[in-house]
Amino acid sequence: MRTVLRRIRIGKPPPLRQGVKQTSPGFYVEVATFQRSVEQAALPALPLDSPDLDRILQPHFDRLLTLMKRIAPPQVSQEVPFLQHLLLQPYAECQARRGGISRASVQPLCPFCGEQPVVPALRPAGDGGKRSLICSLCSAEWDFRRLLCPRCGEEDQEKLPIYTAEQFPHVRVEACDSCHGYLKAVDLTSNGLAVPQVDELASLALDLWSDEKGYTKLQTNVFGL
Ligand SMILES: [Zn+2]
Ligand SMILES: [Zn+2]
Repeated sequence: MRTVLRRIRIGKPPPLRQGVKQTSPGFYVEVATFQRSVEQAALPALPLDSPDLDRILQPHFDRLLTLMKRIAPPQVSQEVPFLQHLLLQPYAECQARRGGISRASVQPLCPFCGEQPVVPALRPAGDGGKRSLICSLCSAEWDFRRLLCPRCGEEDQEKLPIYTAEQFPHVRVEACDSCHGYLKAVDLTSNGLAVPQVDELASLALDLWSDEKGYTKLQTNVFGL
């Protein structure tokens, strides 16, 4: 199998953009701490579309609002869908872990909650790497073919370029020249210590580069990047 690899060079990351992105490094740590507290709250297991879920999560939403008013620019507290996603994510992760999914479902949307993938992962398998997709909401991970666009189903490898940059040796832009979508994959075959969602988030320069080249991200990460 031939890999279409076009190396690119990218300078240092430009400044963060407006709103949610205009935050201090401590912001991400505080958000992660909040999400962990939701995970540990031993909330009852309800389907994600249950009408009772709002009532159960409301006290945590209020806590999140208080936190945002303290650590984020004022406009962030108005971004309700963003805040709801931050809150629902750790709850959905717990549910997905309890529910269990079949990794071998080979479908473009999450087999547990139906959301889009946010980051592909390449994990060691035999002599090479096996590609999987990780859900943007519940973090479930399922197997997916290496040469297949999760957005439009393109499978012609000439139309599925992979871009890398020296400053992120284990993160690669997996683009599609048919639908002009992309996701950033994290290659754990070259860096076994990588954490897909974290390294995806930390490689913002690749998003800006992809945007300039006319590619649109299949699914933005939790911080809207
Ligand atoms: Zn999911
Ligand atoms: Zn495509």
